[in-house]
Amino acid sequence: MKPGALSRRALIKGAAALAALRALRPLRLTAGIGDARPAGPRRKPLHVAVVGAGAFGGWTALYLLRKGARVTLIDAWGPGNSRASSGGETRVIRATYGPDRPYVQMVVRALALWRENEVRWKRPLFRKTGVLWMAGPDDRYEKASLPLMRAAGLTIDAWSAAEAGTRFPQVNFEGVSWVIHERDAGYLLARRSCQEVLQGFLSEGGDYRQREARPGAIQDGLLREILLSDGSRLVADRHVFACGPWLGALFPDLLGERITPTRQEVFFFGTPPGDPRFLEERLPVWIDNGARIFYGIPGSDGRGFKVADDTRGPTVDPTTQERMPTKAGLRAARGYMEFRFPGMQGAPLLETRVCQYENSPDTRFIIDRHPRAGNLFIVGGGSGHGFKHGPAIGERVADLVLGAASPDPFFSLARLTLMNGGS
Ligand SMILES: Cc1cc2nc3c(=O)[nH]c(=O)nc-3n(C[C@H](O)[C@H](O)[C@H](O)COP(=O)(O)OP(=O)(O)OC[C@H]3O[C@@H](n4cnc5c(N)ncnc54)[C@H](O)[C@@H]3O)c2cc1C
Repeated sequence: MKPGALSRRALIKGAAALAALRALRPLRLTAGIGDARPAGPRRKPLHVAVVGAGAFGGWTALYLLRKGARVTLIDAWGPGNSRASSGGETRVIRATYGPDRPYVQMVVRALALWRENEVRWKRPLFRKTGVLWMAGPDDRYEKASLPLMRAAGLTIDAWSAAEAGTRFPQVNFEGVSWVIHERDAGYLLARRSCQEVLQGFLSEGGDYRQREARPGAIQDGLLREILLSDGSRLVADRHVFACGPWLGALFPDLLGERITPTRQEVFFFGTPPGDPRFLEERLPVWIDNGARIFYGIPGSDGRGFKVADDTRGPTVDPTTQERMPTKAGLRAARGYMEFRFPGMQGAPLLETRVCQYENSPDTRFIIDRHPRAGNLFIVGGGSGHGFKHGPAIGERVADLVLGAASPDPFFSLARLTLMNGGS
């Protein structure tokens, strides 16, 4: 078949999906807020099933509920479980995103929503430590970031390496060309936030089930049901699959080659006794955009000085991979830490974590409708930077599912089809 040509079968399927989409019950929208009650005499709320209670699915379920839908959230092992990409202690929230304006705007929205929900639940989720972003010799990414962050209203300092060195003498800025200091940024509690989101969801009337789920048949342009591990079936009006690194296995035709889970190792080193220089009251979160990207979070909750290498590891299966770090990974993390933070020389290793990124081919998220099922939505591709955006994604996906917004081409599945040469 010629590239770009559509088979008769694909055309029929596409037409069916379109017809199904039109047949989806119309939504009543009030004052720009999606009201998920269908028009008509019964005014029964729309039922949405969300599979995956990680950073993407949990917040999506919560915002669907807040916008009026009846929501069933399903997760195989629970929110922020140790297999999930949202597991573990902490995640960085920063707005340095090169030329990608959509992400900067989403970070600004996410920061507001993280704070809003913290206040609502009276639970700490976000620590505003600031973020130090170290530019390497090629600083095009950083130069593109500055105007976008400032235009978005964020408070940003730009320092020479020498100036940064006088403020943070515990850091060796050798090889750093200059530094961005994001004052509004910091870190988020990871697993704990996912659990708080579930608690919030339940207290606001959501229904949660701990089961494995898989999509049932797609017929006439609609997903008909979700099959659960206890043998039951869930029939909802609309469905969201936010299964992080498992998305490729759940939708092999659509996503099998588009979501790649890669092994990532994280190390926590012990800071010297009685020495506050490597704790968050003296040192912001840091990201070193050098030849290899390393990043870290100064000892939170006494767990140690977190050091991680952002380089993608080998492809793994998130269900079966063993979570034992490698000697090579530890050597690289220690070598980097001792160079950049000389006061951490000889620091003992306290804890480790092995996780996985769920990479899309261009590291952009995937937030879109399934091309063959009008009532099925895919949300994923966090690619090592998705956590911070959780609430902003949740709000956005809720609007998409409830018909109050259209898919954003920046996060579309179609862009990946084009990247893959029309496959
Ligand atoms: C080591 C590491 C460091 C990171 N650092 C940062 C950072 O500093 N800042 C940042 O913003 N982001 C960071 N990220 C990325 C971010 O954590 C992820 O992009 C984000 O958490 C992905 O969330 P998710 O909900 O898509 O996936 P997940 O958290 O994996 O959630 C998917 C959920 O689906 C469930 N599930 C899967 N299959 C099924 C099924 N068949 N039935 C039922 N349930 C199912 C799983 O149990 C899981 O709970 C990091 C990721 C890692 C691994």
